[in-house]
Amino acid sequence: MKRIGVLTSGGDSPGMNAAIRAVVRKAIYHEVEVYGVSYGYAGLIEGDIKKMELGSVGDIIHRGGTILYTARCEEFKTEEGQKKAIAQLEKFGIEGLVVIGGDGSYRGAQKLTEHGFPTIGVPGTIDNDIPGTDFTIGFDTALNTVIDAIDKIRDTATSHERTYVIEVMGRHAGDLALWSGLADGAETIVIPEADYDFDAIISRLKRGQDRGKKHSIIVVAEGVGSGFEFGRSIQEATKMETRVTVLGHIQRGGSPTGFDRVLASRLGAKAVDLLLDGKAGVTVGIQRNELVYHDINEALSRPHTIDQEMYKLSQELSI
Ligand code: ADP
Repeated sequence: MKRIGVLTSGGDSPGMNAAIRAVVRKAIYHEVEVYGVSYGYAGLIEGDIKKMELGSVGDIIHRGGTILYTARCEEFKTEEGQKKAIAQLEKFGIEGLVVIGGDGSYRGAQKLTEHGFPTIGVPGTIDNDIPGTDFTIGFDTALNTVIDAIDKIRDTATSHERTYVIEVMGRHAGDLALWSGLADGAETIVIPEADYDFDAIISRLKRGQDRGKKHSIIVVAEGVGSGFEFGRSIQEATKMETRVTVLGHIQRGGSPTGFDRVLASRLGAKAVDLLLDGKAGVTVGIQRNELVYHDINEALSRPHTIDQEMYKLSQELSI
């Protein structure tokens, strides 16, 4: 393989730039040419493709977002769209592709491989919801952004003796809520992977109030429902003043943490090694601090799970 491509797709995440950098530099290290595709699969269909040099990825390792931009593309979900994309790759003489993105982007990568075009997935999403890896690129940064925000909310919650409901991102995955809730000593963590007992939440809040607790923090993953509705129900049931903060897109931005930069560098470089080794239709990941790879189909067929021991611990520590 003498020429490969790289793109970012779906929701962006901090550390994607570090992953692009690793793909470009590792390929050039192996004397392989690299082409960057802008705007994900949409740019691939349009042929928005440019050669990248060592300098193209200079000064980006610490920047959030993605210099290749990202997009969602309905056309790519059709066979016709996929064929157009492959025709563009062939036109540029590209023989393999690295796709940095979430599970939707992985489905696209799988389709390219099924059509005979070797593609490797690199997990880039703040949701940490890709099976086959303990961590996705961007999760640690987003986690620290949430922690920082909750720390600030805690100050005002204490001053006003209020209950705060904080809605964090995670449509289908509660990792961000669980980790930030545990890291911030939240009274209650509500995630899509676990049933919750509303009455038990209310009793716990009341018990806290009775023993003179100045505030309560409840972290809700967006996948469970609206933080505002949750807050309204809490206020009605407890008669405590309750405020709601939806953290929203600030969770996607910012300079990647050291952990994310190192993870992105390792996974990006590994993707290049796998492509050059003739692998296709696989996703790279990290498990127990070792780089691993799995068949994308197999990874996507496994449901996302949370760490039950951690969830139990969060409950035990918030009695
Ligand atoms: P993420 O990768 O962050 O999960 P999306 O789910 O929006 O983001 O997926 C990103 C893009 O991947 C979509 O806009 C589409 O172009 C492509 N994609 C998603 N699902 C499929 C599919 N089943 N087949 C082909 N392409 C897909």
